[in-house]
Amino acid sequence: QAKAAGRNRLCFFDPVTQAAMAELALLEADLRQAVNYQQFELHYQAQVDADGRLLGAEALLRWQHPQRGWISPAQFIPLAEHCGVIGQLGEWVLQQSCAQLSAWAQVPALAGLSLAVNLSAHQFRQKGLLGFMQQLLARSGAPTDKLKLELTESALVEDVEAVIALMGELRRLGLRFSLDDFGTGYSSLAYLKRLPLDQLKIDQSFVRDLLTEPNAQAIARAVIQLGDSLGLAVIAEGVETEAQMLALRGQGCHAFQGYFFARPLPLAEFEALAHKLGQ
Ligand code: C2E
Ligand code: MG
Ligand code: MG
Ligand code: MG
Repeated sequence: QAKAAGRNRLCFFDPVTQAAMAELALLEADLRQAVNYQQFELHYQAQVDADGRLLGAEALLRWQHPQRGWISPAQFIPLAEHCGVIGQLGEWVLQQSCAQLSAWAQVPALAGLSLAVNLSAHQFRQKGLLGFMQQLLARSGAPTDKLKLELTESALVEDVEAVIALMGELRRLGLRFSLDDFGTGYSSLAYLKRLPLDQLKIDQSFVRDLLTEPNAQAIARAVIQLGDSLGLAVIAEGVETEAQMLALRGQGCHAFQGYFFARPLPLAEFEALAHKLGQ
């Protein structure tokens, strides 16, 4: 309520903010429609190992707005969380991803690929997630161990015990977990030890500054060592240059994702890439 009052005050004094708010309200209405009118699409970004072999992909959500064109998830995911559409949207993403994994399982060149799916903290707190996943996996026949859920530290801040229990249940279904944007949140190392994780994902901000800022390099190195000591795989995201890849590989990083290897691609293009790399 204090927040709403603050916003009203801002609107009153600042016509620019008022316009931005009206704009946001419009976009929010469009977002509700978009879920029903199937304006969403998943793009797939390659994840590769230290030898450049394809391990799988991360599914990244894209919204094709009828008038505005493509809108970034960095913009519409927070909006979807705010207006309560994230549950429906997140279920759609999981359904598409499982359908894709089932389809890939039928194609020898694609059968080994894993698929990482981003889960919003809101989604992870919704009661029905475990039941939904159980049904979805059974119905889709997706190879469970190929599905990796990406959480950010924001999913872990509230009720850690409940989160650990839920992750445990989902892992018993065969799912894997990766901690996205690692190093940018507030999760304590004490919890990290207890979370049933499979992978840490070095945030792209550290990768970006790796070769220019000693601190970024120190953090990247620390994450890699931490992963090693905890028995977790480590993947670096946002790798844009060969120099960054070599520096990370030199420090023992096992897996990579970024524009240097491939952009997030529409399904057909990603599959073509996978076939090409598979030869
Ligand atoms: P993220 O999960 O950390 O995804 C990585 C982001 O970095 C993606 O942005 C990707 O396109 C971008 N990226 C990949 N390689 C590079 C690179 O080499 N350089 C740079 N500068 N960027 C790179 P995108 O696709 O705009 O997604 C932004 C965020 O939106 C994601 O961050 C994720 O938090 C969220 N998101 C995307 N799809 C979903 C989804 O299906 N569900 C939920 N809940 N969130 C999603
Ligand atoms: Mg991610
Ligand atoms: Mg990330
Ligand atoms: Mg991010």
